[in-house]
Amino acid sequence: MFRADLHCHTTCSDGTLPPEALVAYAVERGLQGLAITDHDTVEAFGRALPEAKRLGLQLMSGVEFSTVFEETVVHVLGYAFDLKSPLILDLCDRHRQRRQDRMDQMVKKLRRLGFEVPLMKDEGVLGRPHLAQALVDAGHVASIDEAFKKYLGDGRSCFVPGAAFSVEETLEVIHGAGGLAVIAHPMLVKKTSCLKRLYRLPFDGIEAFYARWPRHQEQRWIDVAKSRDWLITGGSDFHGSIKPRIDLGCSWVQEEVFTPLYERFLENNRD
Ligand code: AMP
Ligand code: FE
Ligand code: FE
Ligand code: ZN
Repeated sequence: MFRADLHCHTTCSDGTLPPEALVAYAVERGLQGLAITDHDTVEAFGRALPEAKRLGLQLMSGVEFSTVFEETVVHVLGYAFDLKSPLILDLCDRHRQRRQDRMDQMVKKLRRLGFEVPLMKDEGVLGRPHLAQALVDAGHVASIDEAFKKYLGDGRSCFVPGAAFSVEETLEVIHGAGGLAVIAHPMLVKKTSCLKRLYRLPFDGIEAFYARWPRHQEQRWIDVAKSRDWLITGGSDFHGSIKPRIDLGCSWVQEEVFTPLYERFLENNRD
């Protein structure tokens, strides 16, 4: 049966598999289609696309942008856009700067608490999981989970949100690059009122199948999509060994969802 995972991360953001290895792993897991959705970067595709071609995997453009909506962090997935779009590349660039600045501020806060955190990364963007890993490696906390619970989780003492880019602007960028925009993991948006106002924005779909979320809870999101004529998407949010319980392909979509998106991707990326 055709299966495509539309949500996963590489070492270009906070995943632990490099782009080529992620593509090879997707094939090993029996997937036919894949969208890599790194946080705020499309760097993986330069390396992942040739490998996907070599292995016969249908790989399409994807990204997971961090946005702020009514002071709530909302993740927005973009698909099938032009990978060379200046709009996309410029937003990624601004996110890189935001992430660098906020990382400096979070490190400063941790140092004030007496923690030493050497941060190193040779590719891609830095995120809180890297900082959490550095705290584990330095022996300051026992686990990544503890690092988030005590210091780095939203609203905790060393959390810094960084400059905000709005959902509205992010949707304009994705659409301007010929892509489609999807509300990521709606089950993680705590406030129902916030979700309801999100539904009024020009999204094209909602991620109804997510990670290992219970199957019986999917209907709510499917109903939202159907009443708006939106796409019903899904994916694992695979991050590799940093989130060991979530395997690639544990949530996925069928050919009917993937193929129109993939054709749009091919159309937008003819050279
Ligand atoms: P950032 O994009 O730098 O704000 O970091 C957010 C990322 O951190 C999320 O996409 C997850 O991958 C990860 N994350 C968030 N909360 C936790 C948590 N409690 N435990 C482990 N990882 C988390
Ligand atoms: Fe992540
Ligand atoms: Fe996310
Ligand atoms: Zn994700």
